[in-house]
Amino acid sequence: MVLNLFLRQTVIRVSVILVLILHVVAQEGGPSSPDTGTVIRAGTLIDGKSDNVKRDQVIVIRGNRITSVGDAASAKVASGARVIDLSHATVMPGLIDSHTHIFLQGEDPAQGGYDANILYPSLALRAARATVAARRALEQGFTTLRDLETEGAGYGDVGIKQAIDKGYIPGPRLFVATRAISTTGGYMLEGYAPELDMPKAAQLIDGPIEARKAAREQLDHGADWIKVYMTHRSWVGHHGELVSQPTLTVEELRAIVDETHGWGKKVACHAYGGIGLHRALEGGCDSIEHGLDLDDAAIRQMLQQGTWYCPTISPYYKDWAPADTPAGQRDRQRAAVHEVSFPKALHAGVKIIFGTDMGGISWSEPIAQEFSQMVRLGMPPMDAIKSATSSPAEMLDMQGKIGGIVPGAYADIVAVDGDPLRDVKLLESVQFVMKDGKVFKSGGRLVE
Ligand SMILES: [Zn+2]
Repeated sequence: MVLNLFLRQTVIRVSVILVLILHVVAQEGGPSSPDTGTVIRAGTLIDGKSDNVKRDQVIVIRGNRITSVGDAASAKVASGARVIDLSHATVMPGLIDSHTHIFLQGEDPAQGGYDANILYPSLALRAARATVAARRALEQGFTTLRDLETEGAGYGDVGIKQAIDKGYIPGPRLFVATRAISTTGGYMLEGYAPELDMPKAAQLIDGPIEARKAAREQLDHGADWIKVYMTHRSWVGHHGELVSQPTLTVEELRAIVDETHGWGKKVACHAYGGIGLHRALEGGCDSIEHGLDLDDAAIRQMLQQGTWYCPTISPYYKDWAPADTPAGQRDRQRAAVHEVSFPKALHAGVKIIFGTDMGGISWSEPIAQEFSQMVRLGMPPMDAIKSATSSPAEMLDMQGKIGGIVPGAYADIVAVDGDPLRDVKLLESVQFVMKDGKVFKSGGRLVE
């Protein structure tokens, strides 16, 4: 009986070991199925870093990484490698949108505007819709997003990021900001009876101690970036100028920046202009979001400090109120000053990155519409592409890993038919998407 039990245990142990060995062999591909890799033939290559396009290139991919890039004439293609023929297309790195909100679903006044996003849907419904937003981004060739707060959906973005990373749902690489920080009187929901305890769609703090604590909490729960609202509300002032209410003091922001930098992370500041924007720069923000009204002093300081500028031009042309109302005048003035600030920053050499504020814009709209806006306001198309590839890769401390078709980078690769340098609108119809070495879309159709 005892011997019998001993034998049985031994058999079980041997079986477990055997299964483990087989599992390891299977994971490594095994001697019978070598990884022969994937080869992409690129008719035209924009590598995201160089200003020059290259013709007839071969990109070799093994696993989830690019191993080599070179001329088709001299390239050695391993026999048995899977060949993806994009010889008719323009191949580029996967695109990066540095300002999105996957937990927002548009702010159309007819649909209840911003508040309806927070008041009616359950968290489960919001999460489900966020997965659709993430998928929409990937379909359009955006393989990385910096998602700048959940708008009242707590740490939901960390969960969506985990679901993508673990392969449960398709989506871009996410850099998430969780709840965002503002002050009392500095964020929505607002305008309701003071007796009502309305939810606030950002974490509100007062004083440097609360500010630091909020940053610690958010970093502790998985924030990759900290988002701070340095201005809130805007209106047209007595002299026709755009005015925006400042929120945090410099001391409050410094506490957040100091804490966040200590964790090796960065701070993105929503700032329209005026006092709040100057406090954002004084407090050491890493990126200015929107920056509608940049004066010369702000531009000088951004150059000195190497601050990134994420203008998000597109949303300021949506949902304008009637022209003869204060809100309508504000909407028009916001767009008007932005059209001055963007070219000024561009010509001064401020580091500009592509961002859309998708979520504020409905996810049913094309993300790449922002390229047309940037080009319309004077940015050369190649620079606009770099603002969505190698530049944000640097901002995200991911140089050489994303935003470039170079050896060692993750195989995040997209392609469009035609020449986007001649017609930047072509970027709104990406035909091929690969993320992390896996083809997600081919010939304009989803592969899954
Ligand atoms: Zn935003």
